Amino acid sequence: MPQTLVPEEMNVYQNAEARFEVAADKLGLEQGLYRYLKYPDKEITLYIPVGMDNGQLEVFIGYRVLHSTVRGPGKGGIRFAPDVSLDEVRALSAWMTWKCAVVDIPFGGAKGGIICDPRKLSRGELERLTRRYTAELSDWLGPERDVPAPDVGTNEQTMAWVMDTYAMHARQATNAVVTGKPIELGGSRGRREATGRGVMICVDKAMAKLGMKKESTRVIIQGFGNVGSLAADLMQKAGYKIIGLADIGGGLYNEKGFDVPKVIEWVYTQKKPLQEFPGGGVKMSSRDVLFQPCDVLIPAAIENQITEQNAHKVQARVLCEGANGPTTWQADAVIDAKGIFTIPDILGNAGGVTVSYFEWVQDRQGFFWRESEVNERLLDVMERSFDEVVRYAELHRVNNRIAAYMLAIDRVASALKLRGIYA
Ligand code: NAD
Repeated sequence: MPQTLVPEEMNVYQNAEARFEVAADKLGLEQGLYRYLKYPDKEITLYIPVGMDNGQLEVFIGYRVLHSTVRGPGKGGIRFAPDVSLDEVRALSAWMTWKCAVVDIPFGGAKGGIICDPRKLSRGELERLTRRYTAELSDWLGPERDVPAPDVGTNEQTMAWVMDTYAMHARQATNAVVTGKPIELGGSRGRREATGRGVMICVDKAMAKLGMKKESTRVIIQGFGNVGSLAADLMQKAGYKIIGLADIGGGLYNEKGFDVPKVIEWVYTQKKPLQEFPGGGVKMSSRDVLFQPCDVLIPAAIENQITEQNAHKVQARVLCEGANGPTTWQADAVIDAKGIFTIPDILGNAGGVTVSYFEWVQDRQGFFWRESEVNERLLDVMERSFDEVVRYAELHRVNNRIAAYMLAIDRVASALKLRGIYA
């Protein structure tokens, strides 16, 4: 097994690779399997021409990386952001493979992204960009091939365009090609809240394990999008006290706690900046919110937020990663040394892909479940997965992150051994 390379701290792909290597080493993974699982199956780069509203022709760069189809079709979101890179999409696609294996759902891993700033594009431009990207990928996507979903900068509407474009090329209605769709088009009840709900279920389990009471437990959440705002809302309803919130425009800290539905109304209905929320408490940068006193810290925005330089400032007892890759490899050791109970991203935010799996199942059956059924099944998957990761960590004397990777790699490697290599 190669020596673990120290990753360049802000390179998410190297961060993912370093954790994979530690876990593979602990598992004693055979050399051949190690080599196979380390690299993605396929990487596609696209140059996407789009006619802009002003009459100019613009070319955007997009990617789709299929990391693994060993346990099932590729699965993973599409990200629209200015700083998308191939390395980032590669890392995110590998995380999807491990995440689907941690929660034991029959998918591999994939991810896509387009370098663009969706806030600066009109609805028409976004639609044309999404459709051309999907059309270029139409041979690679499909319910049995690769199934996209929303991620940062994309939403239900984007998924509706993906579905429609694919269906036009396939010459048949194919709603199972994409998840995170509007309910009217075959989306699942409960999908919108699923990632936030999964975060809450993991935190509930951590509370029980650590003998803490959730009532009045102080929670800070960075990121107020799909994951962060819905985690905040669900957790407040369940009795947690949300004392810190942040989005890209800045953060707010209020020891008295936020009335989350009012903040959601302010940000999403009134379209006002989160940081200007009336009576919102102390203003600070979105990064600084992470370092305020609290019991549970939930980074739910972007990568590389907790680093070797700042990890010592985290004051939480529990760190539950709603975002993918918010903590760097270098920061892990600092967080461990502080005795912070970590719920790693590939477990903490797996509620989203779990309900995406339910959506795919419902679409293929043409039979749709009640929201309570979706939530009950999600609870079941998340609780079982949490228990399995924690048991693995205790058994192998590793932290929860390495345990989650070990569990996942073991499952993918077993499936690969059963399939054998077609050569
Ligand atoms: P989103 O686009 O809905 O929201 C992102 C939020 O993060 C916004 O509030 C934005 O203002 C904030 N943000 C962006 N850049 C920031 C910065 N530099 N500092 C502070 N805040 C910043 O995205 P989302 O779907 O909520 O995804 C958030 C994270 O969760 C991503 O890492 C994503 O990969 C991960 N994730 C999402 C899902 C899902 O179902 N949506 C599932 C699993 C993982």
